[in-house]
Amino acid sequence: MSDSAMPSFWGPVTSSTEWCEKNYTHSPYIAEFYNTLSNVPCIFLALIGLTNALRLRFEKRFSVLHISNMILAIGSMLFHATLQKTQQQSDETPMVWEMLLYLYVLYSQDWHYRSTMPIFFFLYGVVFAIVHSQVHLGMAFKVHYTALCLLCIPRMYKYYVYTKDIAAKRIAQMYLGTLCLGGLLWLFDRMFCSKISLWYINPQGHACWHVLMGFNAYFENTFLMFCRARQLQWKPRVAYIFGFFPYVKIQKHKQQ
Ligand SMILES: [Zn+2]
Repeated sequence: MSDSAMPSFWGPVTSSTEWCEKNYTHSPYIAEFYNTLSNVPCIFLALIGLTNALRLRFEKRFSVLHISNMILAIGSMLFHATLQKTQQQSDETPMVWEMLLYLYVLYSQDWHYRSTMPIFFFLYGVVFAIVHSQVHLGMAFKVHYTALCLLCIPRMYKYYVYTKDIAAKRIAQMYLGTLCLGGLLWLFDRMFCSKISLWYINPQGHACWHVLMGFNAYFENTFLMFCRARQLQWKPRVAYIFGFFPYVKIQKHKQQ
């Protein structure tokens, strides 16, 4: 929200969008305080996923996926902290790159000319970044991003249906649950901002969306790691940190 509680270090807002949080309430360096800090759990969760992927020597694509979640969260922090146009792009462009990565992880097994797929996605990502930096895509960005997300659904559904392990299925359910709840809170924050602003306490719907999306990405990556390990016959199973937080354990063949 454009009214600031204190002078801003970054100057006037130049991003095309703002969220339902009062600007510069806690520090002149952070425009949207809660929307910035709420990205920290995503970085922490991606670090847990990355450590596990490296420790178990999963294919590099999974490490890249976890790292891209971290980059996304850092980009989002920069955007919400500054509300500047350039930083908005540092949030939005990695969102598309990450979705291209998911499409690669989900569909690369079926792509006929396997080596062409990474090249195609790489070029797509580069062209998108250039176009997005030059032209303000606005609604077209949202439609394009949603279309990429929707392309992931058929394969995720297929993986879910073919997974018999109850604990792995539960991870996929948590992925869906965090996505739906996060989406609702995002919409709620967006649609009812004028009413929410009058409340004594702002429920910070967008910050809640960030936290839930951090968990959502972790659950998605963990479920995909489980499915990939099963394809490679690494005998995956779900284990729990502190008895409740899931991660994948595997048992490779001796020669692997
Ligand atoms: Zn955000």
